[in-house]
Amino acid sequence: MEGGLRVKTLTVGFLAANCYLAYCEDTREAIVLDPGGDGDKILKTIDELDLKVKFIVDSHAHYDHIAANGELKEALNVPILIHKADAEALVNPELNFSSFLAYPYTSPRADRLLEDGDQIVFGRVKLKVLHTPGHTPGSICLLGEGEIFTGDTLFAGGVGRTDLPGGSFQKLVYSLKHRLMALPDWLKVYPGHGPQTVLGYEKRVNPYLRHL
Ligand SMILES: [Zn+2]
Ligand SMILES: [Zn+2]
Repeated sequence: MEGGLRVKTLTVGFLAANCYLAYCEDTREAIVLDPGGDGDKILKTIDELDLKVKFIVDSHAHYDHIAANGELKEALNVPILIHKADAEALVNPELNFSSFLAYPYTSPRADRLLEDGDQIVFGRVKLKVLHTPGHTPGSICLLGEGEIFTGDTLFAGGVGRTDLPGGSFQKLVYSLKHRLMALPDWLKVYPGHGPQTVLGYEKRVNPYLRHL
């Protein structure tokens, strides 16, 4: 185990996104992955768990994953990280889907742009960035030693929609086939919405993975 990665799941916003507080058990250094709303609830939990947040990370730039970026950045004064292909959507309400939801939202700009293979380090934990485009051009998964955070690329029993701006079903299938299918079965999956699952189980029963 990589210095004891612990995960606290919070369901946030009216689209019920999973916001993950991923932290190093030893040092309490943490990331906030996908603060998609309910900033007060996220901040309160950070406080309760006595976490030292190093980064805000967005799995992609849809509104339901970034809506509390501004509130958290102001409170915590830490960098926002996102894949470079979704960076512009942070500050474009058409691209980040908020216009369609009638809550036009502009996030602060990213402080660090991620690329495939980058590492996000907090305490003794290292998470590797996998670029998995399809749901959006800059969708990423974060891979640890025993777990993967999949954003809206992969859910228990499903995958993210590809009919929004920048989405591509073809690219999503490529990402699933060449990136996720290649990973070990025993990885615990923390998706952007809905319950946790296990990668090997999804490979067998998920209709989008089963035939790949
Ligand atoms: Zn999304
Ligand atoms: Zn979502």
